[in-house]
Amino acid sequence: MIIVLKPDSTPAEIDHVIERIQDLGLKPHVSTGEHRTIIGVIGDESKMQAQPLQAIAGVEQVLPIMKPFKMASREFHKADTVVNVGKVKIGGGHLGMIAGPCAIESVWILDEIAGAVKKAGANILRGGAFKPRTSPYSFQGLGEDGLKFLQDVGQKHDMPTVTEVMDPRQIPLVEKYADMFQIGARNMQNFDLLKEIGQTKKPVLMKRGMSATVKDLLMSAEYVLSEGNPNVVLCERGVRSFEDSTRNMLDMSAVPNVQGQSHLPIIVDPSHATGRTDLIPPMALASIAAGADGVHIEVHSCPEKALSDGPQALLPPKYAEVMAQIRKLAEVLGKVF
Ligand code: PEP
Ligand code: MN
Repeated sequence: MIIVLKPDSTPAEIDHVIERIQDLGLKPHVSTGEHRTIIGVIGDESKMQAQPLQAIAGVEQVLPIMKPFKMASREFHKADTVVNVGKVKIGGGHLGMIAGPCAIESVWILDEIAGAVKKAGANILRGGAFKPRTSPYSFQGLGEDGLKFLQDVGQKHDMPTVTEVMDPRQIPLVEKYADMFQIGARNMQNFDLLKEIGQTKKPVLMKRGMSATVKDLLMSAEYVLSEGNPNVVLCERGVRSFEDSTRNMLDMSAVPNVQGQSHLPIIVDPSHATGRTDLIPPMALASIAAGADGVHIEVHSCPEKALSDGPQALLPPKYAEVMAQIRKLAEVLGKVF
């Protein structure tokens, strides 16, 4: 439920509305705009149904939200949200160009890749230190050492960093070294993790689960937002389908679909969506053309020796080529990065 206050409502009237909401055991989320205040009511709305809130002084309108997600909805927040990752903005015409290796393997390899992607125009460095591998015998990541390398290399190349957090116990470590949390596809519905992440202030890159609907994705974002962290960037990374010539099925329509329903930025990861280096460049371009707020691409200087996702890693010159094309497209669309 959203309570829209009158443009001339007084601070005392607003406080009174907040008290009434709290008395019902619900959580008010106050959004103070230039012209008016809007209060989102978080919690079990049925408690409010019998209350004539419209009768309270200062209240202009009481709007039930039909969607199960509230804070993530366009109704709640009309303008596009812009998420700051260090000094990089994502959303509202700003493109987040995230690139780097799947896993952090050594400080030297990471440094080599970071230098190349930065030169090509990437503005956020990625790299996994905790890897969610299908097999327990595959490389699991360097853990804290990897996070240290990511921080050092990010600072050296003046790029904020993003890395995956798989477990609530890893949050303090990742928070210490990285600029943005990544919630991986496999953890999109790890609700305890989402709640804990929601209690931090760091931006979050929330990847769509491989069998998750767009509504499921927005509900997961709602978990983070409702805990107090408004800095969520969504990521379409393909879903499972019957098609077996690509790693996943890229749902490009998720981009405008999400943007119609939510104010949150959404980027696309054509690397995990297709798993194929020949498909990543055209799908990256298609993502920007579809209105995505950025792309997330895996790059490796020697894919044949990569410890994770080598077959889908672009070589730096190929990444530079697609970035040059994206730059032209972004200019036409009036987007910047
Ligand atoms: C990754 O970004 O390396 C990754 C594991 O992605 P996803 O969670 O989308 O599979
Ligand atoms: Mn990967």
